[in-house]
Amino acid sequence: MLEPLDPISIIYYRPDALRVWTYPEIKERLSWYYEVMKDLKPAKFIIAKHIESPVNPYRKDLSIEDLWKIHRDLEKEFRKTWLSIKNGEQKLGSKRPEYSFLDVKIAIVKRMLRECSFCEWRCRVDRTSGKKGVCRLDATTYVDTYFHHMGEEAPLVPSGTIFYGGCNFRCVFCQNWTISQANPYAGIIVDARKLASIQEELRRSGARNINHVGGDPTPNLHTILESLKYLEINVPQLWNSNMYLTREAMDLLKDVIDIWLPDFKYGNNKCAQRLSVIRNYYDIVTRNLKIAYENGDMIIRHLVLPSHIECCTKRVLEWISKNTPRAIVNIMDQYRPDYLVLRMPKRFKEIARRPSLTELRNAYSYARKYGFSKCPEELCFKE
Ligand code: SF4
Repeated sequence: MLEPLDPISIIYYRPDALRVWTYPEIKERLSWYYEVMKDLKPAKFIIAKHIESPVNPYRKDLSIEDLWKIHRDLEKEFRKTWLSIKNGEQKLGSKRPEYSFLDVKIAIVKRMLRECSFCEWRCRVDRTSGKKGVCRLDATTYVDTYFHHMGEEAPLVPSGTIFYGGCNFRCVFCQNWTISQANPYAGIIVDARKLASIQEELRRSGARNINHVGGDPTPNLHTILESLKYLEINVPQLWNSNMYLTREAMDLLKDVIDIWLPDFKYGNNKCAQRLSVIRNYYDIVTRNLKIAYENGDMIIRHLVLPSHIECCTKRVLEWISKNTPRAIVNIMDQYRPDYLVLRMPKRFKEIARRPSLTELRNAYSYARKYGFSKCPEELCFKE
Protein backbone atom coordinates (compact mmCIF):
# COMPACT_ATOMS: atom_id res chain seq x y z
CA MET A 1 0.00 0.00 0.00
CA LEU A 2 1.14 3.54 -0.72
CA GLU A 3 1.39 5.96 2.14
CA PRO A 4 -0.82 9.03 1.68
CA LEU A 5 0.75 11.28 -0.96
CA ASP A 6 0.16 14.41 1.06
CA PRO A 7 1.75 13.77 4.44
CA ILE A 8 1.53 16.23 7.28
CA SER A 9 4.95 17.63 6.38
CA ILE A 10 3.49 19.25 3.26
CA ILE A 11 0.83 21.06 5.25
CA TYR A 12 3.49 22.22 7.67
CA TYR A 13 6.38 23.10 5.32
CA ARG A 14 4.84 23.66 1.91
CA PRO A 15 1.11 24.42 1.94
CA ASP A 16 1.58 25.75 -1.63
CA ALA A 17 2.17 22.14 -2.71
CA LEU A 18 -1.51 21.50 -2.04
CA ARG A 19 -2.77 24.92 -3.16
CA VAL A 20 -1.03 24.70 -6.52
CA TRP A 21 -3.53 22.15 -7.78
CA THR A 22 -6.38 24.63 -7.37
CA TYR A 23 -5.02 26.55 -10.39
CA PRO A 24 -6.70 25.07 -13.49
CA GLU A 25 -3.82 26.15 -15.80
CA ILE A 26 -1.25 24.25 -13.73
CA LYS A 27 -3.45 21.17 -13.41
CA GLU A 28 -4.20 21.14 -17.12
CA ARG A 29 -0.58 21.62 -18.25
CA LEU A 30 0.67 18.97 -15.87
CA SER A 31 -2.32 16.67 -16.38
CA TRP A 32 -0.37 13.54 -17.31
CA TYR A 33 2.00 13.94 -14.39
CA TYR A 34 -0.92 14.67 -12.04
CA GLU A 35 -2.81 11.52 -13.00
CA VAL A 36 0.24 9.28 -12.64
CA MET A 37 1.15 10.97 -9.36
CA LYS A 38 -2.36 10.24 -8.06
CA ASP A 39 -2.03 6.65 -9.31
CA LEU A 40 -4.94 7.12 -11.73
CA LYS A 41 -2.82 6.31 -14.82
CA PRO A 42 0.25 4.10 -15.27
CA ALA A 43 3.64 5.81 -15.65
CA LYS A 44 5.13 5.62 -19.14
CA PHE A 45 7.77 3.08 -18.12
CA ILE A 46 4.96 0.69 -17.12
CA ILE A 47 3.30 1.14 -20.52
CA ALA A 48 6.68 0.47 -22.18
CA LYS A 49 6.89 -2.83 -20.27
CA HIS A 50 3.58 -3.91 -21.84
CA ILE A 51 4.67 -3.36 -25.46
CA GLU A 52 5.96 -6.66 -26.78
CA SER A 53 9.33 -6.97 -28.50
CA PRO A 54 9.22 -9.46 -31.41
CA VAL A 55 12.66 -10.85 -30.43
CA ASN A 56 14.92 -11.25 -27.42
CA PRO A 57 16.78 -7.91 -27.71
CA TYR A 58 19.69 -9.20 -25.61
CA ARG A 59 20.67 -11.69 -28.34
CA LYS A 60 24.32 -11.19 -29.25
CA ASP A 61 23.77 -11.69 -32.98
CA LEU A 62 21.59 -8.57 -33.24
CA SER A 63 23.48 -5.50 -34.43
CA ILE A 64 22.89 -2.05 -32.97
CA GLU A 65 21.19 -1.13 -36.27
CA ASP A 66 18.83 -4.12 -35.85
CA LEU A 67 17.99 -2.94 -32.36
CA TRP A 68 17.29 0.62 -33.47
CA LYS A 69 15.01 -0.68 -36.21
CA ILE A 70 13.02 -2.70 -33.65
CA HIS A 71 12.96 0.39 -31.42
CA ARG A 72 11.56 2.56 -34.21
CA ASP A 73 8.79 0.05 -34.92
CA LEU A 74 7.81 -0.36 -31.27
CA GLU A 75 7.95 3.39 -30.68
CA LYS A 76 4.91 3.85 -32.92
CA GLU A 77 2.95 1.23 -31.01
CA PHE A 78 4.03 2.72 -27.70
CA ARG A 79 2.95 6.24 -28.68
CA LYS A 80 -0.46 5.04 -29.88
CA THR A 81 -1.02 3.15 -26.62
CA TRP A 82 0.21 6.00 -24.44
CA LEU A 83 -2.02 8.57 -26.15
CA SER A 84 -5.03 6.32 -25.95
CA ILE A 85 -4.44 5.70 -22.21
CA LYS A 86 -3.90 9.44 -21.76
CA ASN A 87 -7.22 10.20 -23.45
CA GLY A 88 -9.01 7.61 -21.32
CA GLU A 89 -9.81 5.38 -24.33
CA GLN A 90 -7.78 2.40 -23.17
CA LYS A 91 -6.63 0.69 -20.00
CA LEU A 92 -3.51 -1.39 -19.62
CA GLY A 93 -4.06 -5.16 -19.51
CA SER A 94 -2.44 -7.36 -16.89
CA LYS A 95 -0.47 -9.52 -19.37
CA ARG A 96 3.23 -8.71 -19.71
CA PRO A 97 5.36 -9.94 -22.63
CA GLU A 98 8.58 -11.88 -22.07
CA TYR A 99 10.58 -9.10 -23.75
CA SER A 100 9.27 -5.59 -24.00
CA PHE A 101 9.97 -2.19 -25.53
CA LEU A 102 11.78 -1.35 -22.28
CA ASP A 103 14.07 -4.38 -22.79
CA VAL A 104 14.93 -3.08 -26.26
CA LYS A 105 15.90 0.26 -24.73
CA ILE A 106 18.03 -1.45 -22.09
CA ALA A 107 19.77 -3.61 -24.72
CA ILE A 108 20.58 -0.47 -26.77
CA VAL A 109 21.81 1.61 -23.84
CA LYS A 110 24.16 -1.21 -22.78
CA ARG A 111 25.66 -1.26 -26.27
CA MET A 112 26.00 2.54 -26.21
CA LEU A 113 27.89 2.31 -22.93
CA ARG A 114 30.67 0.43 -24.72
CA GLU A 115 31.28 3.44 -26.94
CA CYS A 116 29.68 6.11 -24.85
CA SER A 117 27.46 8.60 -26.65
CA PHE A 118 24.95 9.40 -23.91
CA CYS A 119 25.72 13.10 -24.20
CA GLU A 120 27.02 15.36 -26.95
CA TRP A 121 30.62 15.05 -25.79
CA ARG A 122 30.43 11.67 -27.57
CA CYS A 123 33.59 10.48 -25.81
CA ARG A 124 33.26 7.03 -27.48
CA VAL A 125 35.06 5.35 -24.56
CA ASP A 126 34.20 1.83 -23.44
CA ARG A 127 32.95 2.59 -19.96
CA THR A 128 32.41 -1.12 -19.23
CA SER A 129 36.20 -1.57 -19.40
CA GLY A 130 36.80 1.02 -16.68
CA LYS A 131 37.54 3.89 -19.10
CA LYS A 132 36.13 7.30 -18.29
CA GLY A 133 35.04 10.21 -20.44
CA VAL A 134 34.56 13.89 -19.66
CA CYS A 135 32.06 13.03 -16.90
CA ARG A 136 34.80 10.98 -15.16
CA LEU A 137 32.51 8.00 -14.70
CA ASP A 138 33.01 4.45 -15.87
CA ALA A 139 30.02 2.09 -15.84
CA THR A 140 29.57 2.43 -12.07
CA THR A 141 26.69 4.55 -10.79
CA TYR A 142 27.14 6.50 -7.55
CA VAL A 143 24.23 7.86 -5.55
CA ASP A 144 25.45 10.57 -3.21
CA THR A 145 22.15 10.87 -1.38
CA TYR A 146 18.38 10.47 -1.80
CA PHE A 147 15.49 11.92 0.16
CA HIS A 148 12.13 13.68 0.01
CA HIS A 149 13.08 17.11 -1.31
CA MET A 150 10.75 19.81 0.03
CA GLY A 151 12.42 22.69 -1.84
CA GLU A 152 11.45 21.83 -5.41
CA GLU A 153 8.59 23.48 -7.35
CA ALA A 154 5.20 23.28 -5.59
CA PRO A 155 3.67 20.59 -7.89
CA LEU A 156 6.64 18.32 -7.23
CA VAL A 157 7.05 18.22 -3.45
CA PRO A 158 7.70 16.02 -1.66
CA SER A 159 9.96 14.98 -4.52
CA GLY A 160 11.77 11.64 -4.27
CA THR A 161 15.10 13.09 -5.30
CA ILE A 162 18.10 10.94 -6.18
CA PHE A 163 21.42 12.80 -6.44
CA TYR A 164 23.83 10.97 -8.76
CA GLY A 165 27.54 11.72 -8.66
CA GLY A 166 29.20 13.13 -11.79
CA CYS A 167 28.37 15.67 -14.46
CA ASN A 168 29.22 16.39 -18.07
CA PHE A 169 29.25 20.17 -17.46
CA ARG A 170 31.92 22.24 -15.70
CA CYS A 171 29.86 25.17 -14.46
CA VAL A 172 32.17 27.61 -12.71
CA PHE A 173 29.40 28.63 -10.29
CA CYS A 174 28.05 25.11 -9.58
CA GLN A 175 26.34 24.85 -6.21
CA ASN A 176 26.59 21.05 -6.24
CA TRP A 177 30.27 21.10 -7.18
CA THR A 178 31.23 18.67 -4.43
CA ILE A 179 29.40 15.77 -6.11
CA SER A 180 29.37 17.00 -9.71
CA GLN A 181 33.04 17.93 -10.05
CA ALA A 182 35.19 17.53 -6.93
CA ASN A 183 34.23 14.00 -5.93
CA PRO A 184 31.68 12.24 -8.15
CA TYR A 185 32.43 8.96 -6.33
CA ALA A 186 30.90 9.88 -2.97
CA GLY A 187 27.91 8.05 -1.54
CA ILE A 188 26.91 4.50 -2.38
CA ILE A 189 27.40 2.38 -5.48
CA VAL A 190 24.09 1.21 -6.93
CA ASP A 191 23.17 -1.34 -9.57
CA ALA A 192 19.81 -1.38 -11.33
CA ARG A 193 18.07 -3.49 -8.67
CA LYS A 194 19.31 -1.34 -5.81
CA LEU A 195 18.23 1.81 -7.66
CA ALA A 196 14.76 0.32 -8.15
CA SER A 197 14.52 -0.43 -4.44
CA ILE A 198 15.50 3.18 -3.60
CA GLN A 199 12.74 4.44 -5.88
CA GLU A 200 10.22 2.10 -4.30
CA GLU A 201 11.21 3.21 -0.81
CA LEU A 202 10.84 6.89 -1.77
CA ARG A 203 7.43 6.35 -3.35
CA ARG A 204 6.03 4.17 -0.59
CA SER A 205 6.98 6.81 1.96
CA GLY A 206 5.07 9.54 0.14
CA ALA A 207 7.14 10.92 -2.77
CA ARG A 208 5.08 12.42 -5.58
CA ASN A 209 7.72 11.51 -8.15
CA ILE A 210 11.22 10.13 -8.67
CA ASN A 211 13.48 13.06 -9.43
CA HIS A 212 16.68 11.98 -11.23
CA VAL A 213 19.28 14.72 -10.71
CA GLY A 214 22.97 15.17 -9.92
CA GLY A 215 25.44 16.42 -10.97
CA ASP A 216 23.50 15.34 -13.98
CA PRO A 217 21.65 12.05 -14.43
CA THR A 218 22.69 11.62 -18.10
CA PRO A 219 25.95 9.65 -17.52
CA ASN A 220 23.87 7.18 -15.47
CA LEU A 221 21.29 6.58 -18.17
CA HIS A 222 22.12 2.85 -18.39
CA THR A 223 21.46 2.17 -14.68
CA ILE A 224 18.36 4.36 -14.62
CA LEU A 225 16.74 2.67 -17.64
CA GLU A 226 17.52 -0.80 -16.33
CA SER A 227 16.20 0.05 -12.85
CA LEU A 228 12.75 0.56 -14.40
CA LYS A 229 12.71 -3.11 -15.35
CA TYR A 230 12.78 -4.01 -11.64
CA LEU A 231 10.53 -1.18 -10.44
CA GLU A 232 7.09 -2.57 -9.68
CA ILE A 233 5.39 0.49 -8.29
CA ASN A 234 3.59 3.25 -10.15
CA VAL A 235 5.44 6.55 -9.85
CA PRO A 236 6.06 9.47 -12.25
CA GLN A 237 9.61 9.61 -13.55
CA LEU A 238 11.12 13.12 -13.57
CA TRP A 239 14.24 14.10 -15.52
CA ASN A 240 16.04 17.04 -13.84
CA SER A 241 18.91 17.76 -16.20
CA ASN A 242 21.05 20.13 -18.24
CA MET A 243 19.60 18.37 -21.33
CA TYR A 244 22.90 17.89 -23.13
CA LEU A 245 21.91 14.39 -24.24
CA THR A 246 22.48 13.04 -27.73
CA ARG A 247 19.54 12.53 -30.05
CA GLU A 248 19.88 8.75 -29.51
CA ALA A 249 19.81 9.09 -25.72
CA MET A 250 16.72 11.30 -26.00
CA ASP A 251 15.07 8.62 -28.15
CA LEU A 252 15.64 6.07 -25.39
CA LEU A 253 14.52 8.38 -22.62
CA LYS A 254 11.51 10.14 -24.09
CA ASP A 255 9.20 7.13 -23.72
CA VAL A 256 9.83 6.62 -19.99
CA ILE A 257 9.86 10.17 -18.61
CA ASP A 258 6.52 11.57 -17.42
CA ILE A 259 7.65 15.06 -16.48
CA TRP A 260 10.74 17.01 -17.56
CA LEU A 261 12.49 19.56 -15.36
CA PRO A 262 15.14 20.96 -17.69
CA ASP A 263 17.58 23.64 -16.82
CA PHE A 264 17.76 26.28 -19.59
CA LYS A 265 20.39 28.81 -18.55
CA TYR A 266 22.08 30.25 -21.60
CA GLY A 267 20.65 32.04 -24.61
CA ASN A 268 23.70 31.41 -26.81
CA ASN A 269 26.67 29.07 -27.21
CA LYS A 270 29.32 31.59 -26.21
CA CYS A 271 28.13 32.19 -22.63
CA ALA A 272 27.77 28.41 -22.13
CA GLN A 273 31.30 27.83 -23.38
CA ARG A 274 32.71 30.41 -20.99
CA LEU A 275 30.73 29.54 -17.86
CA SER A 276 29.98 25.80 -18.25
CA VAL A 277 32.85 24.81 -20.60
CA ILE A 278 30.43 23.22 -23.02
CA ARG A 279 30.20 23.29 -26.84
CA ASN A 280 27.12 24.06 -28.94
CA TYR A 281 24.95 24.34 -25.84
CA TYR A 282 22.13 26.40 -27.30
CA ASP A 283 21.70 24.29 -30.44
CA ILE A 284 21.71 20.99 -28.55
CA VAL A 285 19.55 22.00 -25.62
CA THR A 286 16.89 23.68 -27.76
CA ARG A 287 16.71 20.57 -29.98
CA ASN A 288 16.20 18.37 -26.91
CA LEU A 289 13.69 20.70 -25.30
CA LYS A 290 11.50 20.36 -28.39
CA ILE A 291 11.68 16.55 -28.18
CA ALA A 292 10.87 16.57 -24.47
CA TYR A 293 7.96 18.97 -25.00
CA GLU A 294 6.36 16.53 -27.44
CA ASN A 295 6.78 13.70 -24.95
CA GLY A 296 5.50 14.67 -21.52
CA ASP A 297 4.73 17.56 -19.20
CA MET A 298 7.39 20.16 -18.56
CA ILE A 299 8.57 22.77 -16.07
CA ILE A 300 11.55 24.72 -17.45
CA ARG A 301 13.93 26.30 -14.96
CA HIS A 302 15.78 29.44 -15.86
CA LEU A 303 18.38 30.72 -13.42
CA VAL A 304 18.82 34.48 -13.79
CA LEU A 305 22.57 35.18 -13.95
CA PRO A 306 23.87 38.68 -13.18
CA SER A 307 25.05 40.56 -16.30
CA HIS A 308 23.36 37.95 -18.54
CA ILE A 309 19.86 39.40 -18.90
CA GLU A 310 20.08 40.49 -22.54
CA CYS A 311 22.24 37.64 -23.84
CA CYS A 312 20.60 34.83 -21.86
CA THR A 313 17.38 35.56 -19.92
CA LYS A 314 15.77 37.52 -22.77
CA ARG A 315 16.68 34.94 -25.43
CA VAL A 316 15.67 31.98 -23.28
CA LEU A 317 12.22 33.43 -22.51
CA GLU A 318 11.69 34.43 -26.12
CA TRP A 319 12.61 30.92 -27.30
CA ILE A 320 10.27 29.24 -24.79
CA SER A 321 7.37 31.50 -25.71
CA LYS A 322 7.77 30.63 -29.41
CA ASN A 323 8.70 26.96 -29.21
CA THR A 324 7.32 25.40 -26.04
CA PRO A 325 4.48 27.79 -25.13
CA ARG A 326 2.58 25.31 -22.94
CA ALA A 327 5.58 24.65 -20.72
CA ILE A 328 5.49 26.07 -17.20
CA VAL A 329 8.50 28.26 -16.43
CA ASN A 330 10.29 28.85 -13.15
CA ILE A 331 12.35 32.04 -13.32
CA MET A 332 14.83 31.50 -10.52
CA ASP A 333 16.28 34.50 -8.72
CA GLN A 334 18.43 32.70 -6.15
CA TYR A 335 21.79 32.79 -7.94
CA ARG A 336 24.73 33.41 -5.65
CA PRO A 337 28.44 33.07 -6.45
CA ASP A 338 29.90 29.67 -5.59
CA TYR A 339 32.76 27.30 -6.44
CA LEU A 340 35.33 28.78 -8.90
CA VAL A 341 33.60 32.14 -9.01
CA LEU A 342 34.25 32.48 -5.27
CA ARG A 343 37.85 31.42 -5.69
CA MET A 344 38.54 33.60 -8.74
CA PRO A 345 36.17 36.56 -8.49
CA LYS A 346 38.32 38.73 -10.75
CA ARG A 347 38.28 36.20 -13.57
CA PHE A 348 34.50 35.81 -13.37
CA LYS A 349 33.79 39.38 -12.36
CA GLU A 350 30.46 39.66 -14.16
CA ILE A 351 28.90 36.87 -12.13
CA ALA A 352 30.74 37.35 -8.84
CA ARG A 353 27.68 38.89 -7.23
CA ARG A 354 23.95 38.30 -6.84
CA PRO A 355 21.64 39.64 -9.57
CA SER A 356 20.56 43.18 -8.79
CA LEU A 357 16.96 44.22 -8.19
CA THR A 358 17.00 46.05 -11.53
CA GLU A 359 18.19 42.92 -13.33
CA LEU A 360 15.48 40.83 -11.71
CA ARG A 361 12.87 43.44 -12.64
CA ASN A 362 14.15 43.36 -16.22
CA ALA A 363 13.94 39.56 -16.24
CA TYR A 364 10.29 39.67 -15.16
CA SER A 365 9.54 42.45 -17.58
CA TYR A 366 10.87 40.26 -20.44
CA ALA A 367 8.68 37.45 -19.14
CA ARG A 368 5.66 39.74 -19.40
CA LYS A 369 6.77 40.96 -22.84
CA TYR A 370 6.82 37.37 -24.11
CA GLY A 371 3.38 36.65 -22.71
CA PHE A 372 4.09 34.94 -19.40
CA SER A 373 2.05 35.71 -16.34
CA LYS A 374 2.94 34.75 -12.81
CA CYS A 375 0.78 32.52 -10.71
CA PRO A 376 0.95 32.88 -6.94
CA GLU A 377 3.13 29.78 -6.55
CA GLU A 378 6.11 31.42 -8.34
CA LEU A 379 5.52 29.57 -11.60
CA CYS A 380 4.95 31.36 -14.89
CA PHE A 381 2.93 30.24 -17.85
CA LYS A 382 2.02 31.70 -21.19
CA GLU A 383 -1.67 32.58 -21.56
S1 SF4 B 1 28.15 10.51 -20.57
FE1 SF4 B 1 28.92 12.09 -21.95
S2 SF4 B 1 30.75 12.85 -20.92
FE2 SF4 B 1 30.29 10.86 -19.98
S3 SF4 B 1 31.51 9.38 -21.17
FE3 SF4 B 1 29.46 9.47 -22.08
S4 SF4 B 1 29.63 10.94 -23.75
FE4 SF4 B 1 31.38 11.28 -22.38
